[in-house]
Amino acid sequence: MNVKDSLELYIHIPFCVKKCAYCDFLSFPAEEADRLRYTEALKREITARAEEAGDRRVTSIFFGGGTPTVLPAEELVRILTLVKEYYQVEEDAEITLEANPGTVSEAGFVKLRRGGFNRLSFGLQSTRAAELALLGRIHSYGDFLEALDGAKKAGFVNISADLMFALPGQDRRSFAESLQRVGALELTHISAYSLILEEGTPLYARRDSLSFPSEEEYAGMYEDCAAILSAYGFSRYEISNYEKEGFACRHNTGYWTGIPYLGLGLGASSYTGDCRFRNTRSMAAYLERAAKPALLKEDVQLLTEEDAMSEYMILGLRLAEGVSITEFARRFGREFDEIFGAAAERYLRTGFMERTKDRIRLTDKGFPVSNYILADFMP
Ligand code: SF4
Repeated sequence: MNVKDSLELYIHIPFCVKKCAYCDFLSFPAEEADRLRYTEALKREITARAEEAGDRRVTSIFFGGGTPTVLPAEELVRILTLVKEYYQVEEDAEITLEANPGTVSEAGFVKLRRGGFNRLSFGLQSTRAAELALLGRIHSYGDFLEALDGAKKAGFVNISADLMFALPGQDRRSFAESLQRVGALELTHISAYSLILEEGTPLYARRDSLSFPSEEEYAGMYEDCAAILSAYGFSRYEISNYEKEGFACRHNTGYWTGIPYLGLGLGASSYTGDCRFRNTRSMAAYLERAAKPALLKEDVQLLTEEDAMSEYMILGLRLAEGVSITEFARRFGREFDEIFGAAAERYLRTGFMERTKDRIRLTDKGFPVSNYILADFMP
């Protein structure tokens, strides 16, 4: 299927039980009545934006947040059913639900699986009690194991867990322990992100009293992700993501390969192929205008040819397979070397990137410093 004929849907549920100490996402605790008002508005937006999707085939749906599983399983299934009614969802679409341990019962997982969800992404972050407490997470490692057991019994096979590293007080050994424990759990996918200290968060306010890993320890932890997880059958397919063969997240891979997406819900971002925009982040405005999506749009950014070429490189180089030089020429009618030859040459010479006949990609040496390298492909 042509990229332009496909579409991905992202559905934002902005509620959480409690705000984590490091989090600056658009998420917050809310009373049941407010959650209900939101889901009613979300349903109005879902039906109103179906026209924008046209006949494009929906290849993946991702319920993210926040903690979508703060909503009852029945409500999540009702939202998914409505989406399937209004959009052309492929029979084998990947339908992911972000879940936090301690927010879904075994019976809840059964309802979700029967209701059509086929992939779970658990926010675990660490297996160590002290690290979970520091991050302000609501769950223990035991809660995660219990949730995982419930999910597997309910028939979920495709299950991912998120881990974090470069945490204050963490060292290579403690992170390796989390990697080993999670690696052994028969998951299909693991994401491992480094902590980013965001201004305005409680963790940021405490930063001077905390001791963070050095750059050297950070590099060691990043290296350990690939080395330890590979012993459990995972391979890195993106800077921060590891799959068992065939279980790369199709939704996120779509983002990195330029498949258009509609973001539904408060603050959700959309990409049409030549334009990026997002919905309002104001709950009052969202509740009032959800049925008139044109009035929700903010930060509209029309992409120039230069932006599009740059995005193609910056997103594609995140993937272990890198980008196709032939595809670049086909898409943009320009030769890769003419536009990015000089930027790439420096990294090819120093072993941070490698090039085959058709592809250019980061090497194992390049991945840990990808932020610096990708900045050179900016417009
Ligand atoms: S559960 Fe996730 S979205 Fe919610 S506060 Fe914690 S990190 Fe943020």
